[in-house]
Amino acid sequence: MDVGALAMQHSHMRRGLSRAVWSLAALLLASCEEPPAGAPAGAVCGAASECASARCELLRCVTPCASAADCPAALPACATLAGELLCLPVGELRLTRALAPAPAAGAGADAGAGAGAGADAGAVAPVEVEVPSHASGLALLVRGGGADLAQLAEVTGPDGARVAAAGDDTTAVRYQPSPGASALVLPQSPELPLLPGRYLVRASAGAAGGSLEVRYLLGPPPASPRLHLHLHFVGLAGACWPTSEGTLDAARATQSVGFRALLDEARRVLGQVPIRIGDITYQDLAPDARWDPLLLTSGRTTPAFGALLSTGSAPDGDHALDVFFIKSFDPSAVAALSSSVPGPLDAHGTPSSGTVVALSPLCGGLTPKDLGRLLAHELAHLLGLFHNEEADGTQDTIADTPMGPQNLMYWSPTAIELTPGQRFVLLRNPTLDGR
Ligand SMILES: [Zn+2]
Repeated sequence: MDVGALAMQHSHMRRGLSRAVWSLAALLLASCEEPPAGAPAGAVCGAASECASARCELLRCVTPCASAADCPAALPACATLAGELLCLPVGELRLTRALAPAPAAGAGADAGAGAGAGADAGAVAPVEVEVPSHASGLALLVRGGGADLAQLAEVTGPDGARVAAAGDDTTAVRYQPSPGASALVLPQSPELPLLPGRYLVRASAGAAGGSLEVRYLLGPPPASPRLHLHLHFVGLAGACWPTSEGTLDAARATQSVGFRALLDEARRVLGQVPIRIGDITYQDLAPDARWDPLLLTSGRTTPAFGALLSTGSAPDGDHALDVFFIKSFDPSAVAALSSSVPGPLDAHGTPSSGTVVALSPLCGGLTPKDLGRLLAHELAHLLGLFHNEEADGTQDTIADTPMGPQNLMYWSPTAIELTPGQRFVLLRNPTLDGR
């Protein structure tokens, strides 16, 4: 039975009867009434016809409201969605849409787009994303099946203006496509708030197709979310590490005094936000010449870097980031490197999934505690923070971050300070575990 149609009939019938007659009819029906039609407000739904209210929004059966007092416990917020006040859920919510294989390169390609922008924004059908008024964070994650660029060809906001686009450096919001998976997380600063309303998202995951995951943080951000970690130890025999502790591997890392100092420092730095480091898994990866040392090109990622990050094997959607510990990079001046800002948190096994930390700086005078600070810096990148100041003097868009090396996100990090504006951004990443 089409429950939506049934509810509509009742509504028409109600309007056609006087109050007195309706009361009588209700009385007569009471003894032979059918069971309640459709799912109640708050139930998970895929279509309006499944709901008693005939409204399915954000995967829930919803009802109209004038204030939160009208709303059931399962839908505690009374917020605006698509121009209407509705009882809506709070917390984390994710919607996934399949992406068709990208059109063949060439036809209609935008020759004016910058490096890395392979898709013509007009060639990819847009996905409509409704952001309710009580959303505090939004993540758009493009996931492909291989090493092709996963990209947001264009995102336009409720006001019709371009929010971000692959290859467009002129927007206030910064976004970079990445191989295999890429993400845009909003807001990027307190000064660039997340506007409610309808966004149009044109995404492309390459020749094999893929998915667009829309992740909402609805209502206020969690007080102290957790970030889970998958730690990978990549053939570290002979690496810079205290000889008294033996070769650092998955088994020894759980017992090592030095490694505990490293993790404790990362915990202390992220604890300022506050973000807690939650569950940690430990895994060994066999030695491989491609990663010993890991070759970079002018400080940028290479196919070898992507191949290493692709070895992560955790299932997607677990609120975790992959961290790979290697002996050293080439050039050896690089101590740690992340795929992108932000990283595709929650997507594992892609060429962009995670961060790589070298142990070689321990032979140059740094301590495990120093490496813990570097790890926290990289994790903050993957969660959405840019450098407060780049080596060329470029600043982030967060108003209260100072220039200079006293901040955790300085391009050559030696301090641990995070400003209220930076903490504001980190806490609104919808892919952290808010439970
Ligand atoms: Zn950095």
